[in-house]
Amino acid sequence: MSELRQGVGLRAYAQVNPVDEYKKEGFDMFEAMINGIKEEVVRRIFTVRVKKENPIERRSVAKTAVAGNVGGDGSVKRAPVRKQKIGRNDPCPCGAWKADGSRPLKYKECHGRNA
Ligand SMILES: [Zn+2]
Repeated sequence: MSELRQGVGLRAYAQVNPVDEYKKEGFDMFEAMINGIKEEVVRRIFTVRVKKENPIERRSVAKTAVAGNVGGDGSVKRAPVRKQKIGRNDPCPCGAWKADGSRPLKYKECHGRNA
């Protein structure tokens, strides 16, 4: 805007009121800015929709973000996969409870019965 204010002073030589020109061009600049913002918003909405149309890609990205650390160069390090050993007296991973509701079923009482 200050650039415009300096430039508009020269218009006095072209027989136009510099103040009117300043207002007019200021308004034009403002409109151009609003149009630029509108375009950007429309572009972003479009980009988001494109991503939503591809749920498989989204899932894999989310999984990677949870499982690994992203390095400074953007590379993804996979977190080590920990193999869980279930003890026979640990609660069964299926989450089942005893029929009377007193405590979770132990692995040996549930899915580990035949193990
Ligand atoms: Zn179980």
